[in-house]
Amino acid sequence: MKKIIFTNLLNPISWEKAEYQKEIYITIEDNIITSIEKEPQCFLTTIDDMSDCVCYPGFIDLHTHIYQYDIRGSYKNNLLEWLNNYTFPEEIKVSNTDYAKCIADKMIQNLIYCGTSTACLYSTIHRNAFEIAVNKALKFGLRTIIGKVMMDMNSPAQLTEKTQQSINESIELYKTFDNITNLIEYCFTPRFALSCSFDLMQKLGQYIQNISPYVQTHLSENIDEVKSVKTYFQNAVSYTDVYNQAGILGPKTLLAHAIHLDNTELNLIKKSRSSIVHCPDSNFFLKSGTFNLNKILEYQIPFGLGSDIGAGTNLYMPYHARMMIYRQDNFQINPLNAFYSFTLGSAEALKKSNQIGSIQPLKFADMTFVKQDITYTNPEEIVSKLIFTTNPTDVKKVIVNGKTIHEKD
Ligand SMILES: [Zn+2]
Repeated sequence: MKKIIFTNLLNPISWEKAEYQKEIYITIEDNIITSIEKEPQCFLTTIDDMSDCVCYPGFIDLHTHIYQYDIRGSYKNNLLEWLNNYTFPEEIKVSNTDYAKCIADKMIQNLIYCGTSTACLYSTIHRNAFEIAVNKALKFGLRTIIGKVMMDMNSPAQLTEKTQQSINESIELYKTFDNITNLIEYCFTPRFALSCSFDLMQKLGQYIQNISPYVQTHLSENIDEVKSVKTYFQNAVSYTDVYNQAGILGPKTLLAHAIHLDNTELNLIKKSRSSIVHCPDSNFFLKSGTFNLNKILEYQIPFGLGSDIGAGTNLYMPYHARMMIYRQDNFQINPLNAFYSFTLGSAEALKKSNQIGSIQPLKFADMTFVKQDITYTNPEEIVSKLIFTTNPTDVKKVIVNGKTIHEKD
């Protein structure tokens, strides 16, 4: 089916550059963008007038936890205390199917309401909760990269799996759900080194060696966590080396936080072509430390932004871009840099920039329309207004895979 939209297009080009095209016609055929032109391509198709909005590529959230939605704002200034006091008790509750349905429903709908078109999601260890999350993503039409969390040590009994069972179940879910439609991809999700035995991570590393699926985990978020990892994994020379030795680094591995890294670790990440997910709001909330953006850029490691619910407080990616700018005390970044980090930069981190992240012919039709002042013509000013002055109520329409999944008058 053909669809034509009349709008104002703001497209990311690079870390430094974006392009603004006022009053243009975007043609979508089925789920693909087919043309962007000054004149409509076909006068027989009804034209959807979105000229009071700026059209952006659908926002990408590279790291968030679906079942932590209700513990947002539960304050602790330390990661491990926060996990033990709020996160683990909440995730235990998700073994209840009705509770899981209720949270997944709220989370997926709110992601879409906030203009997110692609989200990388952590479920919990529960198979049921994972399947519920996939079904909700399919029902509401969100592009999703998602995994069942793996945990086999150092965690509450109700959240501790047997090693082989964790591996078997994850492989089964991967085989069943990866690419079940073009909206769902499976992501192996060992939670973090402190809740995964080396045996578990190594078995996973062996399994994924030849198939290169997505993998997501946390890395070096908090100083106490880093110290504990060194105690538990004495054969590794660093936190990153634990993952390296286990064989779970690779081009489709997403490492959240990556705050307290030395140069050797940065080299390992660069060499493995893994990506980093920066979660500034969450880092601020848990007093985890400052992301060394300067270094990450110096090492040219692909990275993008994550909301990291529930240490992150909301799902609106322009808000996280705002936090990213606020959090860099000694390194100047501008709104275009931050905008790139939740659009094309994130798509590059996912190795998906040929499919999503900007609005171009042959890419998937994933777009977010935001009602904002359209009298500006400079891309940096438009993006600056998006990041510093808008909120989710300004998101007027979200299209994912060519389908309108959120719309308001
Ligand atoms: Zn997280």
